[in-house]
Amino acid sequence: MTKKILVSGAGGFIASHVVEKLLAQGHDVIGTVRNPTDSKKNAHLLDMAGAAEQLKLFAADLNDADPFNAHADVDCIMHMASPYSVNVKDPQKDLVDPAISGTISMLKAASANPRVKRVVLTSSMAAITDEPDGRVLTEADWNTKSSLTRNPYYFSKAKAEQAAWDFMKNEKPAFDLVVINPFLVVGPSHTSQINPSNQVLADIVNGAYPAIMALTWGFVDVRDVADAHIAAMQTADASGRFICASATMDMAGVIDIMKKNGYARAKLPKIRLTGAIGTMIMKLASLTQPAGVGSYLRTHLGRVPRFNNAKARSDLGIWFRDVEGSIKDSLVDLAKWGHIPPAQG
Ligand code: NAP
Repeated sequence: MTKKILVSGAGGFIASHVVEKLLAQGHDVIGTVRNPTDSKKNAHLLDMAGAAEQLKLFAADLNDADPFNAHADVDCIMHMASPYSVNVKDPQKDLVDPAISGTISMLKAASANPRVKRVVLTSSMAAITDEPDGRVLTEADWNTKSSLTRNPYYFSKAKAEQAAWDFMKNEKPAFDLVVINPFLVVGPSHTSQINPSNQVLADIVNGAYPAIMALTWGFVDVRDVADAHIAAMQTADASGRFICASATMDMAGVIDIMKKNGYARAKLPKIRLTGAIGTMIMKLASLTQPAGVGSYLRTHLGRVPRFNNAKARSDLGIWFRDVEGSIKDSLVDLAKWGHIPPAQG
């Protein structure tokens, strides 16, 4: 059945894949962006198949009071807008405030509209863990360690998701809340704007990393994250949180894939600092980095995240793409947009 769906931050890396899929399924989409009259920034949305008939864009800034109220006469809401940056000047003002107030504003708007049956909130693995500690993480885990000075982006995601669950408990609205918690999202982008997650891959190719470090990421493909959002909307008995991640891969593994796919002669890091001493050196070096990057490195170097994605597979029916394929597709896309050089022979 065709539905009307509100997608906040509709032009974003993940959200634009969600919008594309919703339009392809014949749904009407109300997309919020910061500036709907910016035809250049919104071109990727406006040019999508079905957009002319099914997509309407409206302005909503998370820093405004009640940005979503006028647009919430819909069947379902995907709240995806949230500031995503590892380094900011003022973590409270630039990350935490808009993440929380935007989420609460959206939930209030949903409460005021009896038509809304479900809100799907894009949270993050950052709301589940601040630093991997060897345990297998599940949806029962919460990040309680981040702060304004330690992984502040993580702090903003944990606080915003917690605020959403508190709202549901205290207000008992008529709709239900389903939360998607993706790990590092990579894959093709609808725009030339590079997302901080794909930036990790571009930085490795472009020589921004001084050495091969003991960093391991949980990867997930943006197309699978979009499918998870849509399944969360369409699966009547979906409930709670969903870890959205395929598998982990360390930096050495990522570099091997890059070498096999035309980047053997790129500026890939060569010195291996993955052992205990190397990790100690890199932790010391992290003190010279901007605060956000520094705290990320100190909490992640030498640690391997472990997680269980069974709930997303069983309840939402998501079959996660393998990491190697997602990284290959990301490299092709990053080269297409000019973020990395073209692959060579
Ligand atoms: P993105 O492209 O930066 O998307 C973030 C969206 O939020 C953009 O549309 C952005 O609008 C919007 N936004 C930020 N600040 C805003 C403000 N003050 N007012 C209105 N809109 C604002 O990044 P993404 O990866 O697609 O992120 C989408 C969601 O997924 C976010 O909630 C993010 O925390 C979450 N997430 C991402 C990852 C990942 O690895 N990429 C992993 C886990 C969770 P502009 O385009 O105008 O800036």
